Amino acid sequence: MDSKNRIGATRSRVVAKWRLFPPEIIFSMGAIPYDLLLHEGLVTTKDDEVNPSKYAIEAGLSADCCPWNLSAASKILSKEDDSDIDMFLATVGFCDVSSKSWRTMSKRIGRPFYSIEIPQFNFESENNALLFIQQELSSMFNRLSRRRGYEFSEERLLKEIKKGNFIRNLLSDITKFLSTQSVPVSALEYFLIQTSAGDYLQDPDITGSILNRIKTEIESRNKNGESAPGIQDGAPRIYFVGMAPQQLGFWNLIEDCGGVSVGCDTYLSLFYELIPEHTNVQKELAKWIWRMPHNIPSIERSKMLTAYIKKQNPDAVIIGNLVGCRNISQSDRFVKETIREELGIPVTSLEFGASDEDITLLEPHIRSLIDMCK
Ligand code: SF4
Repeated sequence: MDSKNRIGATRSRVVAKWRLFPPEIIFSMGAIPYDLLLHEGLVTTKDDEVNPSKYAIEAGLSADCCPWNLSAASKILSKEDDSDIDMFLATVGFCDVSSKSWRTMSKRIGRPFYSIEIPQFNFESENNALLFIQQELSSMFNRLSRRRGYEFSEERLLKEIKKGNFIRNLLSDITKFLSTQSVPVSALEYFLIQTSAGDYLQDPDITGSILNRIKTEIESRNKNGESAPGIQDGAPRIYFVGMAPQQLGFWNLIEDCGGVSVGCDTYLSLFYELIPEHTNVQKELAKWIWRMPHNIPSIERSKMLTAYIKKQNPDAVIIGNLVGCRNISQSDRFVKETIREELGIPVTSLEFGASDEDITLLEPHIRSLIDMCK
């Protein structure tokens, strides 16, 4: 996760992208996508020199802003003119907290911020919505090539979509293995595998090949009926919904409390379905973006998500809420009600606080949920 080396070595222009912005769009312009909140927001080491929120607050962001944005903005602003980022790009699902934080970063480090508008999903307006999204995409490609010298090519877009679909298929296959009785991959490993959907870790060929090797290993464990090391057969099965906490130790906590993770939806929107590989590629991409799960209104989305959760055979669901985030808290109630009605299993909400919060304080809550399922 060492972002400095990762982007420094690319020698291409780096586009900081919103978490669920499809990375193939950026690759098709000959640039490198960079999932900013992931690479700059994860709390990795204790000796990190940058205070998780100092620079962001000095730049005018509220201390109550969500911790992912606070720490990502702080890290970017601490580098000042030394940032490798050429521009900031965002789209569908971009929250208002991020909007303010990204505009602040863009202004401070003097790199443009570009956002495309996506109408919310509604069957009745499909034709108009798709035309609108196609126009938004074309206008983005035109403006970026005219003003910033990016070279868009429809042929390259299709090629990148194919690479992305290869990764999507692998992520779906790996996720299916978590639905089996003996779960062959640990919670933390699965979360890290899922996060690779954000930007294919800057190289879809290498990432695809690594994920393929992981899948082969998981497949072999599955054939032998083996769980991942440290996971007990028959442990209560937990599905996670929402934005994950920054502290990776959360995933180990599920297992330390006697449970096993059977999936999470944090990056699911990026691999829920494949992008069709047809010739009218911009139209197909527009349709796929419009139907991304997080672009669907809360009630329909809860139903869609519940059908997906059901496939993983969970015994309980954890909904993650972050302090300073309005988006997930608003849909929390719908998700809870739908899961209880459709699956009849326990659902609990956890609140994740600041970056430096001690995640182990959540242990009693997680343990009591898991004990309830035994
Ligand atoms: S946690 Fe909420 S506020 Fe923070 S980036 Fe995600 S949606 Fe936005």
